[in-house]
Amino acid sequence: MSRVWFKKGVSLKNLQPQTVWAMERAREVFASRGLNCIYTSIYRQQVEGEKFSLHPLGRAFDCDTDHDISVAVWGVIADELAVILGDEFDVLAHDAGSGFHIHAEFDPK
Ligand SMILES: [Zn+2]
Repeated sequence: MSRVWFKKGVSLKNLQPQTVWAMERAREVFASRGLNCIYTSIYRQQVEGEKFSLHPLGRAFDCDTDHDISVAVWGVIADELAVILGDEFDVLAHDAGSGFHIHAEFDPK
């Protein structure tokens, strides 16, 4: 049975309903592979000089797993989630310095 939890210190401030919906879809994609889902960042403050982010607006989340999966599998998970979430979301698997994770954001055009 796959589990889901928040990394210590994650804040739900400003969290938008579209993000909540997407977080649940991400959990399901992990669970379908028997993987635990860890939400590692949701709200965070915009830091001056840093790239603009939707995290401060509660429209983005990062999730990870405690299982060891390959970069290729990360790509498959991101692609699968992108299809489920549709065109109004951007989804990517990347390593911003703290290891691979999924970043997803609600960004309707
Ligand atoms: Zn992110």
